[in-house]
Amino acid sequence: MRVLGRVPAGATDAEAEHHLELAATEVRRRAVQTVGAAKAGHLGGEFSITDTLVTLYLDVMNISPEQVDAGDPERDRLILSKGHAANALYTALAVGGYLHPEALRTFLQSESMLNGHPARNKIAAVEANTGPLGHGLPIAVGTAIAAVLDGSKRRTFVLLGDGELQEGSNWEAFMTAGHRRLSNLTAVIDRNRLQQGARVADTNDLEPLADKLVAFGWEVREVDGNDIAALRPALRVPGSDRPVAIIAHTDKGFPVSYMRDNVAWHHKVPTAEQVGIALAELDGILGRLEAKENN
Ligand SMILES: [Mg+2]
Repeated sequence: MRVLGRVPAGATDAEAEHHLELAATEVRRRAVQTVGAAKAGHLGGEFSITDTLVTLYLDVMNISPEQVDAGDPERDRLILSKGHAANALYTALAVGGYLHPEALRTFLQSESMLNGHPARNKIAAVEANTGPLGHGLPIAVGTAIAAVLDGSKRRTFVLLGDGELQEGSNWEAFMTAGHRRLSNLTAVIDRNRLQQGARVADTNDLEPLADKLVAFGWEVREVDGNDIAALRPALRVPGSDRPVAIIAHTDKGFPVSYMRDNVAWHHKVPTAEQVGIALAELDGILGRLEAKENN
């Protein structure tokens, strides 16, 4: 796995997108191997959010490994509310230079800092312990209010699953953020239409989701969440006078053929053969990206 670090200062949009597409592919290559070796994980929902994670940590957020190590209070914050996607978070942090890649080998091992759900007392770049669903947005609202009270321009991002929105605590937090017009808060909703074991629409439907968020006082942006060129501008611009909800339309398991939009891949473990198929497909993408680089 290559450590790519942040998008270089002064990069053009095309250069930045290319850097982030490479990073996302590196993350997915490493993540599928990690789950294959650990024999546990949540690849489907990790692959749907990989593009968002790299775009935030490697480009959009005002954050660097140096700021994290120094505990800079002015760094932007990301809270991964869908904490079961921890492996994608760790791997994105490693590709971004925030976590040593060797640590990835210890995922889920006894006394590893890489737990199945992120732990803030073990990894400096992790801002909140998450895993129990419906907690990340309330924490993010508090974090955003703290920035207002500090007179700070720092932004707070929170990444939520769509199935997770069935937890009522989210709607208390949406209401509070709307009431307080927290324009420094951006919530990304991973709208992959699947949750553990079933389609969201068949379990407890969210629609009309955008209308509900607008009614709670949020600005809503809908984008293809697996398209970095679409995600990047949506993430970069904060709300003018209210919090922003990005409905990121994604596919669970993207872009691996046998995982994509397949509910089984919420927490299925790939066989060695399936790891090989995923790597071959991801290598194909990497090859096309590198060919573009050399032209
Ligand atoms: Mg989902």
